Amino acid sequence: MKDSYDRKINYLRLSVTDRCNLRCKYCMPESGISKKTHQDILRHEEMLRIVRISAKLGIEKVRLTGGEPLIRKGIVDLVREIKCIDGIRELTMTTNGILLGDMLDDLVEAGLDRINLSLDTLDENKYRKITRGGELGPVLDCMKRILDKKMKLKINVVLIGGFNIDEVVDFVNLTKDHPIDVRFIELMPIGEASQWSHDKFVSGEKVLELAKLLPVVTEDLGSPAKYYKLEDGLGRVGLINPISCSFCDNCNRIRVTSDGKVKPCLHSDSEIDLMNIIRNQGDLEEALKEAIWKKPKAHGMNDEDYMPIKRDMNRIGG
Ligand code: SAM
Ligand code: SF4
Repeated sequence: MKDSYDRKINYLRLSVTDRCNLRCKYCMPESGISKKTHQDILRHEEMLRIVRISAKLGIEKVRLTGGEPLIRKGIVDLVREIKCIDGIRELTMTTNGILLGDMLDDLVEAGLDRINLSLDTLDENKYRKITRGGELGPVLDCMKRILDKKMKLKINVVLIGGFNIDEVVDFVNLTKDHPIDVRFIELMPIGEASQWSHDKFVSGEKVLELAKLLPVVTEDLGSPAKYYKLEDGLGRVGLINPISCSFCDNCNRIRVTSDGKVKPCLHSDSEIDLMNIIRNQGDLEEALKEAIWKKPKAHGMNDEDYMPIKRDMNRIGG
């Protein structure tokens, strides 16, 4: 289905939990979040219903996210069942990778097409610091296994001033020998990061200053990343610059949070309560159509009167 600005909306980000086994400093408060009861989050069957109706409206790609999606009970079955829905041609997951080692084979067997691994540093002490206690070893082991399996992999690195800019070249060099995408994402002023000082927000252009990269032409207009490569690289380097270079004109996505709200735009507090509609026999298809139709033309992050949205990223799903 198209939205009111003639953009084809074919991508759903589905958050399966707002809980997480890490506490990344820019994403979650140190104290964690107030726990929701099972009643307050979408049930397995409710998520499937949302995906089925979304597929009817033209959603072709689903990305599971969170919080940390791998801590959601029944996640492998959910992958299997979503993959069987008519119209869904690509199913991916964004994860911190901590629990992936034990689950990778089952997820692949269930039909997961690709992993987006979030990794902001290759240094174990810095990893512990930014995630407030996470261990890097299992994540790197898992990355190696994904590469051995020749499964598609994207590594997402949030650029953080004073933290990981000195590692940009190391990350870029991962694309030399491996056919992976390393994507640098500008830190967004959402949740915890909305309180951070200006020097932490670094433009994606910094990557182009630090590494010698050639532009790559891609067909996928819906992708928020602009791609580059090393001259002799097997993989690609992506820049996702939501702030310095907005990609709203080609935005193709809606988001559903684990507490059942559909968000037409990441950077707006506007939401429609799908859980309430489902549990009170309302018209779910109409609600999803309305969410697509209501997508704003653009985010206002560069406007003077921009107010950061109220939800933290772990409660939306990146
Ligand atoms: N826990 C999973 C993970 O970390 O991959 C999935 C959820 S996490 C919220 C999804 C992505 O959002 C991660 O890549 C994370 O780095 C990114 N993220 C969180 N807060 C962000 C912010 N303020 N700006 C940019 N990216 C952010
Ligand atoms: Fe958890 Fe992902 Fe947020 Fe880190 S970025 S705290 S791993 S939800």
